[in-house]
Amino acid sequence: MDFAFTPEEEAFRREVAEFLEKEAPREYREKKVTYFDMASQPDWIAQHRRMAEKLGERGWLSIHWPKEYGGQDKSPFFRLILREELTRYHCPGYDSIGCGIVAPALMLKGSEEQKKRHLPGIASGRVMWCETLSEPNHGSDLAAIEVFAREEGDYFIVNGQKIWTTNAHFADWNALIARTDRNANPPYRGLTFFLLDMKTPGITVNPIINMAGHHEFNEVFFEDVRIPKENVVGGVNRGWYVVMSLLDYERTSDVAYAVAATYLEELEEFARECDLLTAAAKDRFARLRAECQVARLLHYRVAWMQSQGKVPNYESAMSKMVSFELLQKVCRFAVELCGESGVLAEDSLRVPMHGRIASCYLRSFGFSLEQGTSEIDRDVIAQRGLGLPRLR
Ligand SMILES: Cc1cc2nc3c(=O)[nH]c(=O)nc-3n(C[C@H](O)[C@H](O)[C@H](O)COP(=O)(O)OP(=O)(O)OC[C@H]3O[C@@H](n4cnc5c(N)ncnc54)[C@H](O)[C@@H]3O)c2cc1C
Repeated sequence: MDFAFTPEEEAFRREVAEFLEKEAPREYREKKVTYFDMASQPDWIAQHRRMAEKLGERGWLSIHWPKEYGGQDKSPFFRLILREELTRYHCPGYDSIGCGIVAPALMLKGSEEQKKRHLPGIASGRVMWCETLSEPNHGSDLAAIEVFAREEGDYFIVNGQKIWTTNAHFADWNALIARTDRNANPPYRGLTFFLLDMKTPGITVNPIINMAGHHEFNEVFFEDVRIPKENVVGGVNRGWYVVMSLLDYERTSDVAYAVAATYLEELEEFARECDLLTAAAKDRFARLRAECQVARLLHYRVAWMQSQGKVPNYESAMSKMVSFELLQKVCRFAVELCGESGVLAEDSLRVPMHGRIASCYLRSFGFSLEQGTSEIDRDVIAQRGLGLPRLR
C-alpha cells in the first residue's frame, strides 16, 4: 500500500505553507493557539475573516469543488492539506460550517438557484455561516425538535429557541432545521431545512461562555422570523434527509487528528526544554503519537471515499469519534505532564505554553459532544457499520 500524496498535492502543500509563513497571524503562532481554542484570542473574529478572504481570493476554500460551482475539481485531499497546514501554522480562516458542512450539503440537496446564490459567498470567504440544530430539550434526539415554522403566503414564520450555536454572534447566514408538521409520524418526517439570513428581524443571539471562559457558542431566539419559501432546501417536511447528509460531512469537516498531532509535537518540544521526559512520559508520547497516525489514516480513508464519489457514513462517525477522543486524551496528558503549573490561568506569571494547556483542557470536554456525541457515533458504527441490531 502506498499512502503518499501525489506530486501535485505535495506542491500545493508547499504553496500553502509558503503563503502561511507570510500571512498567518504571528502572535497566534507564537502562542501556539490551537484551532479549537481560537476564541480565546480577543481579535479572533477579525483575524478569522481576514484570513478567510485571503484563502478565498486564492480559490483554496473551494479548490475541491466541481468547476461548475466555481471550484477547481481537485481531490478532497487538497482540502485536507489546506486544513493540515492551517493547523500547523495556528491559523484561523476556515469556516468549517460554511465550507465544511453547508456547501457540500447544498451541492447535494440544494436547488440550482440556491447553489448560485450561496456557494460563491462561501468560496470567497466573505460569508460566514452558523447552524442551528440543537435545542434546550433536544440534542441527540434531533428528530424531536420543537422550533416551529408556520407557513404563511410566500413565507415561513419561525418561533422558538436554539442553543449551543457556534459563531452565531458573527455569522451572516444560518442553516436552520425547524418543525413544519407537529403531527408527523414518525416525527422526523415533519422537519424542514432553511437557509436564513441572520440580519432578518426577530433573531436574538445571546452569548454562552464556555468552561474555558471564552465566547464560542450562543443561544438563539426566533420571534416571528420570516423566511422566504425559496430558502427551503430539499423540500418541505424533507429536512431530515438534508440534515443526515450534512452530519456525514460535519463529522469530517474538522481535522482534529491534525490538531492533536501538532499539539503533541509542541508538548514534546516543551517537555524536552523543561526536562519533563520521564520514562512514563515517553511511554505516553509514543502511544499518543501512534494514535495520531491511526486517526489520520481513518480521516484519509473518508477523503479517499469522497474522491471516489462514495458517501462515507459510519466511516465518518469512526473518524470523528477517534480523532476527537484522541484530542481529549492529548489535552488531558498535557495537564498531567505539567502538573500544577499546567492548570494555571492564561494571565498567570509562570504559566507554561502561554496558558494553552489549561485553556485547551477545559475546551476539550466539548469534543465528545459537538458534531454529535461519541455515544451516537458508536451507535452509528454499531448499526450501520457492523449491522448490529438497534436496541432502542
Ligand atoms: C463546543 C460545542 C459546539 C456546538 N456547536 C453547535 C452548533 O453550532 N449548532 C448546534 O446545533 N449544536 C451545537 N452543539 C450542540 C451539540 O450538537 C449537542 O451538544 C449534541 O448533539 C448533544 O446534544 P445535548 O447536548 O442535548 O445532549 P443529549 O442529547 O441530551 O445527550 C446527553 C448524554 O446522553 C447521551 N445520549 C443521548 N442519546 C443517546 C442514545 N440514543 N444512545 C446513547 N447515548 C445517548 C449523549 O451521548 C450524551 O452523553 C455544540 C456543542 C458543543 C459542546
